[in-house]
Amino acid sequence: MSRDLMTDDDRWAAVLRRDRALDGRFVTGVLTTGIYCRPSCAARHPLRENVRFFQDGAAARETGLRPCKRCLPDDVARDDRAVIKAIAAIKDSEEPLALADLACRTGYSPTHFQRVFTRHTGLSPAAYARALREERARAALSDGNRVTDAIYDAGFSGPSRFYENMEGRMGMTASAWVGGGKGATIHWAVVPTSLGEMLVAATEKGVCRLSFDEGRAALEKRFPAATLVEGGAEFAALLKQVVEAVEAPTGGFDHIPIDVKGTAFQEAVWRELRKIPAGETRSYADIAAAVGKPKAVRAAGSANGANNVAVLIPCHRVVRSDGALGGYAYGLPIKEELLKREGR
Ligand SMILES: [Zn+2]
Repeated sequence: MSRDLMTDDDRWAAVLRRDRALDGRFVTGVLTTGIYCRPSCAARHPLRENVRFFQDGAAARETGLRPCKRCLPDDVARDDRAVIKAIAAIKDSEEPLALADLACRTGYSPTHFQRVFTRHTGLSPAAYARALREERARAALSDGNRVTDAIYDAGFSGPSRFYENMEGRMGMTASAWVGGGKGATIHWAVVPTSLGEMLVAATEKGVCRLSFDEGRAALEKRFPAATLVEGGAEFAALLKQVVEAVEAPTGGFDHIPIDVKGTAFQEAVWRELRKIPAGETRSYADIAAAVGKPKAVRAAGSANGANNVAVLIPCHRVVRSDGALGGYAYGLPIKEELLKREGR
């Protein structure tokens, strides 16, 4: 829709659905608070009667409004450029790029860049890179290429890395992965929690995916052939348990069924993670030793990162040997907060 054809009703509808595609097309002034926002601002929606729309930030500022500190409406063009640049870098790179590296290329701090990128694409930079690799692998497979060709085409350095990435992430065996969850019904929901928007998905056997800042699209990517059903009565009961466990992690997670499949090594690592008591942490070296492969420290790290079910398989309880937090798929603030709640 061109700007000229948009009515204020269209603009308000875009604000209500937090439509990122319209960021930069207009700003939303809120007379009562004196600020203006981009359409996708995550803050609570103002009352319609207090809202006036402006063509851009300059027009809003002329009436005395100030830019929102949360959505930084004047940074839209800069954000767009940063995200486009980062996507190009991710696509060109053979190896996964560190968040700090990507942020540095765009001139943002890592946390700010992560937020901007996630707002634009719906995925964190790391999840985006993974999705891209999986998409390329899937495209290559569906072209009828041999699996090994597909692995190399998709930018994996070898079959073991491929299966480590695919098998664990898809929650099923490598051969079943080609079917993308065919025959499975997966109930899912995105719920607000004190840690942010949380995606919970479950098969009839248990939780197969728990993540933050993901939605149906991400789930479809993981299980393209599964039947996805939002909500459901039985699922609602499980969901309630999961939310309670995440909000109060010291209560333990053993009562919640989990449905994951990975390589034997990954499953061993995940079992080991489930044994770490709340309030304690382990290093990657500890985990590698515990599964009987003391030299496989990096592989333990990858298995940790390939965890499909955040929190319930507590990969957040693994930190670096020097005590530093290490990485976390959903951003360090969530890891830090979980550990804090567990009284580390
Ligand atoms: Zn805002």
